[in-house]
Amino acid sequence: MTPETIRPGGTIGILGGGQLGRMLALAAARLGLKAHIYCPEANSPAFDVAARKTVAAYEDEAALADFADHVDVVTYEFENVPARTAAVLAAHCAVRPGPAALAASQDRLVEKRFMADLGVPTAPFVDVADAGALARAVATIGRPSILKTRRFGYDGKGQAMLREGADLGATFRGLGGAPCILEGVVPFVKEVSVVAARGLDGTFAAYDVCENAHENHILSRTIAPAALAADTAARAVAMARRIADALDYVGVIAVEMFVTREFDAKGREVEALRVNEFAPRVHNSGHWTLDGAVTSQFEQHVRAICGWPLGAPTRHGARVEMRNLIGAEAEDWRDILRAPGASLHLYGKADARPGRKMGHVTRIWTESEG
Ligand code: AMP
Repeated sequence: MTPETIRPGGTIGILGGGQLGRMLALAAARLGLKAHIYCPEANSPAFDVAARKTVAAYEDEAALADFADHVDVVTYEFENVPARTAAVLAAHCAVRPGPAALAASQDRLVEKRFMADLGVPTAPFVDVADAGALARAVATIGRPSILKTRRFGYDGKGQAMLREGADLGATFRGLGGAPCILEGVVPFVKEVSVVAARGLDGTFAAYDVCENAHENHILSRTIAPAALAADTAARAVAMARRIADALDYVGVIAVEMFVTREFDAKGREVEALRVNEFAPRVHNSGHWTLDGAVTSQFEQHVRAICGWPLGAPTRHGARVEMRNLIGAEAEDWRDILRAPGASLHLYGKADARPGRKMGHVTRIWTESEG
């Protein structure tokens, strides 16, 4: 064991107290570790299942230092951890994944340039620093195209579709006048993601590429494995690995991709991939692994950040389906409990606001069920 390796009985610190932090804390407990959650909101779902908690702002440097002194490693459940927060923590203990992953994932322009430098295909994109730059960007990218704020976008927030006739100034102002990128619309046939892990020693383990369906910009359903040609799936995993290796990444990473149908030089129709974005954390499209794989993404992340060997990412069954329970959908919990083969996960959130992720259901299909 290296000095960086954490022993059972140790404590992992988690920034963020949502459902991802909650499921990480549960996985840590199963492995004999304690979780200490740091989150500014007093009513956080992860607090219910953690050994210790700190309720403080991410800018509270005294609270951060105290937290970091009481844990063996710090990780996070969201990518918008302020750079200063990460730096304060890193002065006291290991932060995994490290600062390179945070820097690249927080800013869509930095992220897309990073992919381009690695030779990983993305949507065509142009930097839009101000309203004047938007007209020039539209001349390059064309319409329809998508204007996205460089920072703080998620679940379709911070983005606007630019169609023919749209008023460029009004669209830019509508996103708060913040620095943006303009992306070409990718005519995708499906959206997939690669959830994978990289260990402290550089080992890499990917789950099956999975296919994602969204409703109102929110993930509604994931199916593993995605219906892809074997070589397309292998290329998707290779791209995720290239990204993780370039970041010297430690932990679970999720790379979201578009699948398109394009024609190769010989005129044959082939599946092509373009990366949309990556998340330096466990991800909703990996929730199926809780019931549907030998090692869940949460356990895998805990293993990686503790410097432990990665577990097998092997899928159970022929196909696994995960459905998110959004808002009032979680009220069906009794029916879901009665459904044979369904595994229910609820996040302990009291208030079922529309659009809020309240839980999820997984189901494993055997060969005979198809
Ligand atoms: P994002 O906020 O980048 O994760 O985008 C949210 C969703 O918008 C994606 O899952 C896609 O369905 C869609 N989308 C984002 N960017 C593009 C693009 N360049 N072309 C087509 N669809 C996109």
